Amino acid sequence: MSFDFDLFVIGGGSGGVRAGRLAASEGGAKVGLAEEYRMGGTCVIRGCVPKKLMVFASAYSGGVADAQKYGWKDAQIGAFDWMHFKGKLDAELTRLENIYRTNLGKAGVEIFDARATVKDAHTVELSTGETFTAKHILIAVGGKPFVPPFEGSEHVITSNDIFLQKKLPKSILIVGGGFIACEFACILNGLGVKVTQYYRGAQVLRGFDDEARGHVADMMRDRGVDLHVGTDVMQIEKRDDGLWVKSSTGHDHTFDAVMYATGRVPSTDGLGLENTGVETGRGGEIIVDDYSQTAVPSIYAVGDVTNRINLTPVAIREGAAFVDTVFHGKPTKADHDLVASAVFTQPELGTVGMTEEEAREKGPIEVYAAAFRAMQTGFAERNDRTLMKLVVCATTRKVLGCHIVAENAGEMIQLAAIAIKMGATKEDFDRTVAVHPTMSEELVTMKTPTRTFN
Ligand code: NDP
Repeated sequence: MSFDFDLFVIGGGSGGVRAGRLAASEGGAKVGLAEEYRMGGTCVIRGCVPKKLMVFASAYSGGVADAQKYGWKDAQIGAFDWMHFKGKLDAELTRLENIYRTNLGKAGVEIFDARATVKDAHTVELSTGETFTAKHILIAVGGKPFVPPFEGSEHVITSNDIFLQKKLPKSILIVGGGFIACEFACILNGLGVKVTQYYRGAQVLRGFDDEARGHVADMMRDRGVDLHVGTDVMQIEKRDDGLWVKSSTGHDHTFDAVMYATGRVPSTDGLGLENTGVETGRGGEIIVDDYSQTAVPSIYAVGDVTNRINLTPVAIREGAAFVDTVFHGKPTKADHDLVASAVFTQPELGTVGMTEEEAREKGPIEVYAAAFRAMQTGFAERNDRTLMKLVVCATTRKVLGCHIVAENAGEMIQLAAIAIKMGATKEDFDRTVAVHPTMSEELVTMKTPTRTFN
């Protein structure tokens, strides 16, 4: 049977673009790719990239106070011009989007600016009315923000909307305690917005090392985020003076805006999966095996739509492994072990491997932790404290986990992750000579365990 395409990719985000490009350029495949919105997906258009640029923008406000302590006595910062920033941001995203398009085109991928749905195991239908057959279909449609139902939920914005605002609110309530909620609480706080954050549980960043997330929460409060744990929204009403919010603790407050960052769900609604035997889980995620293959042999899925580890670099690896498996005859599993990540709070949290709590369950461990005032911020008379932490297996001596709360912890954890992925022991860390004076030298100079567990 002949097909219009060897591969049809649905979704022009990190995973889909990488798979489509590699299949065409290295696998010699005839590839079509459909994207209904802007090329680049969540990461480029409304996620990692614009978020990180906002992190940079927001960090300057604190920098001026530091500069004064360092002797720049007349240093001043004026008002933040959101529209200036937004204009530059929009231009940068357009530039990146065009690079994605150009690279796909150079690789020979045919791009369709349309929504695609699956008609059967080998057929996709576009919103333009066109229908194409493909030997393989790759679903890489990502996820979208989830807002729970409650009275007044139509008044809230999500991370998708924040980059589109015409002006910054004076005050905002951020609901949630995950990556997005904590990152935007810090960003907007740095940009001069009065930030209140409600999290329903006992401590934000559930799933991260307890000591590290407690440390981040302390630092966020210290820098001015009004963080309330054990608190949820009951009701929101639009009033003349803003959004009136009634909380589960019985208090009510009015904010200019309310942003929900209460998780993301796979974008599988209306994708036509019911026309195929593709199985989905309770959250709507596509169920795949280790090779990203669905229950229908010709259909694969990568990235957030499969809800494995929802990070851009993981989606990219899954896309590349799919191409190796299908177009190079080299069955390859994406490696989901020891994936490092960073939460871009201020200060950042970088993490790789097991938390202390996970490691304690598994056997005898030693914990090395140091919390201290870093030289740069200490001199600027800030209260910031840095945390460097290693979780070590007491029998094999391997470093099982590393958790860093510090400025630029994201940069540091990338490097620590290489050593840990290679199986470095605590003694390997110890025999590495310190780089002085740095914050991360603490990782190779912690001699005595802070705690041990048998
Ligand atoms: P997360 O899953 O990280 O956090 C969701 C938060 O919302 C949790 O605190 C959760 O609470 C809370 N929540 C969920 N449902 C409700 C509800 N019904 N009412 C009140 N609170 C609720 O999701 P995010 O949206 O922050 O981020 C989505 C994913 O995007 C992340 O998991 C991550 O994979 C990725 N991401 C990565 C970034 C990075 O690498 N720096 C940055 C941003 C996103 P509870 O803990 O109680 O469940």
